[in-house]
Amino acid sequence: MLTQETARKWIDLFIEQILENKDYLSELDTAIGDGDHGNNLARGANALTEALQTKNPETLPDLLKVTGMTLVSKVGGASGPLLGSAFIGMAKASQDSDDLATVLEAGLEGIQKRGKAVAGEKTMVDEWIPVVEAVKSKTLTSAFIEETVEKTKDIKATKGRASYLGDRSIGHIDPGAMSSSYLFKTMMEAGVYDE
Ligand code: ADP
Ligand code: MG
Repeated sequence: MLTQETARKWIDLFIEQILENKDYLSELDTAIGDGDHGNNLARGANALTEALQTKNPETLPDLLKVTGMTLVSKVGGASGPLLGSAFIGMAKASQDSDDLATVLEAGLEGIQKRGKAVAGEKTMVDEWIPVVEAVKSKTLTSAFIEETVEKTKDIKATKGRASYLGDRSIGHIDPGAMSSSYLFKTMMEAGVYDE
């Protein structure tokens, strides 16, 4: 169930997961980008911890909004503003709905409005699109989350920094898809998604 309480647990677990996997995410980004993805998100995770402590947002829309604004303003690189836009989109949608699929779909729209990526360009969108569909059809599992990240290996990047590599981007996992997979796994762990 999507509530302020489960979402707070979700964000706390996501912060933990990012900090734990910071080096791995940067390693993935070293292969097809500039090697800063883990560091970018870790900066965001630390800023988030502080923002949530000082602002202590008490409603679901406020919580999602503080999260989004912090990621947009504190994270360098493409991923912060993109993930931040997702949370800002989710914050707006959560004012009128507590349906997870609806709220996540608004998050995906936020990413796509900002970054203009569509399916099949080897970005975090390739993680978000199948996961949103699986939430809609109530078929999401953590195995599915892992499979979709793995599938980004086969894609040739045509958006973002990895697109400079062309065919050489094939065979590598997209770092942003991996960090989004942490977002969705912690979403399940926190009980935001009803299995
Ligand atoms: P930067 O590319 O500026 O160094 P990061 O390394 O933090 O930023 O993030 C890279 C990730 O951002 C990529 O792996 C990809 O998933 C995601 N990304 C890049 N451009 C876009 C875009 N236009 N739309 C969606 N996601 C994108
Ligand atoms: Mg990078």
